[in-house]
Amino acid sequence: MGKNNTFVYGALDMVENCLGKPREHCGVIGVYSPDKSVQVSRYAFDGLIALQHRGQESAGIYVQNGKGITGHKDMGLASTVFTKKILSTLYGNKAIAHVRYSTTSDSNIENAQPKKFVSTLGSYAIAFNGTITNFLKLRAILEDKGHVFHTDSDTETIAHVLAANLLETDDYSQAIVKSMNELKGSYSMVILNEKGELYAVRDPLGFKPLCIGRVNGIYMVASETSAIESLNGTVLEDVTPGQIIRITDNGPVTEATVKADRHARCMFEYVYFSRTDTRFDGISIYKVRERLGKILAQIHPVDADIIVPVPDSGRTAASGLAEESGIPLGEGLIKNRYVWRTFIMPIQAEREDQVKLKLNPVRELIDGKDVVIVDDSIVRATTMKRIVSLIRNAGARKVHVRVSCPPIIAPCYMGIDFPTSRELIAANQTVEEIQKFIDADSLGYMTIDGLMQGIGLPENELCMACLNKKYPIESIDAGFLESQLGGIKKIEN
Ligand code: SF4
Repeated sequence: MGKNNTFVYGALDMVENCLGKPREHCGVIGVYSPDKSVQVSRYAFDGLIALQHRGQESAGIYVQNGKGITGHKDMGLASTVFTKKILSTLYGNKAIAHVRYSTTSDSNIENAQPKKFVSTLGSYAIAFNGTITNFLKLRAILEDKGHVFHTDSDTETIAHVLAANLLETDDYSQAIVKSMNELKGSYSMVILNEKGELYAVRDPLGFKPLCIGRVNGIYMVASETSAIESLNGTVLEDVTPGQIIRITDNGPVTEATVKADRHARCMFEYVYFSRTDTRFDGISIYKVRERLGKILAQIHPVDADIIVPVPDSGRTAASGLAEESGIPLGEGLIKNRYVWRTFIMPIQAEREDQVKLKLNPVRELIDGKDVVIVDDSIVRATTMKRIVSLIRNAGARKVHVRVSCPPIIAPCYMGIDFPTSRELIAANQTVEEIQKFIDADSLGYMTIDGLMQGIGLPENELCMACLNKKYPIESIDAGFLESQLGGIKKIEN
């Protein structure tokens, strides 16, 4: 990895982070061309570009051809990791690909995905999005049985669990079912084996999205529908919670479905993570965010002159709020998308001016007005405090804040990079205290009932653990895990 590449991904990551947003763990792609003459690495690459928002630390593509499974991965954005020359060396009609942001293991090339494993029954590669919450326990059991681990990643644990089950049956689908009964946590994954079989697998609770589509006669698996549609493809179906799909020359075939007594789709996919043009299990992200804005207008009515979204995350909710309230919408905050190119940013970032570098208020829209700022979430509240200050300094008479996600009061153990409870402002302060801290004239959060209404799913179809502490995974030791994740993040930083 060259120095320039290090700078680009490091700086971009800093930019994405400077607005204080939680980060998604990963995005996955699978590509299968029944026509053996088609080189699918280009499709995998384009899919990664469409999913880049789900992870910016590393990118990888592995292909299967007559000679086995081979690939390339490195630290950085997909566009910097893959040159045309590298893509042309990835020869094969089946591929899996991955973009990563680390939460439970170190950010280094050893933990980048896809990961290839060699077992006595042949090699296979895995790319997954999620977090295995019992991976340390499973790893200890497997180490006792003689398995040797080379990294600290939960992906390697998945591979070893699969390898152990493949020793008992050489049928991949059966081995995957057995593995799913052992693995706890969230996972949407693609598996490509030496035989050229491509599997798409989603955990029984269905935390993370996964779907299958068709692009130019090629079958494509992706974390989000927008990745397939941005390649001019057609989405065929969602991989349903617990479903194992094998893709053959004839298309996707359901091999088995591991049932659970509830589902736990991550509410944050609807509120923030997924692209606005995605549908998660058939539900339009755009429509959800717009509905949330309308609900906010109903439960926290306000008199104001202008609604200003925090770009880009608050934009769709703000348009719903504007439509419902009749208050005009204005782009009163402008985002600098290229701030990572500035040479002064590292110095100014140290002076906590990151938000100012990233967002600039439009004085002509704000001066002398009562303003409503809309964003999707508040995590530590330091960013919102800075935004309120920017709007006030641009001449606003009053500044109201509306948030389309309810207060985040607990950490996430299922693959989202939230801080520990100590750093989550809503875990430690009342709404009135937060309003005072950010210096707003009023602060209105979405309610949990309003969130379910906006998404259109009941409580037993969603994970909302970071909002209500009802973790959908059994036997989770929250205190232990929180200290574990806190410790891991310290190592990463
Ligand atoms: S705890 Fe929150 S962020 Fe994590 S999976 Fe559940 S809803 Fe999503």
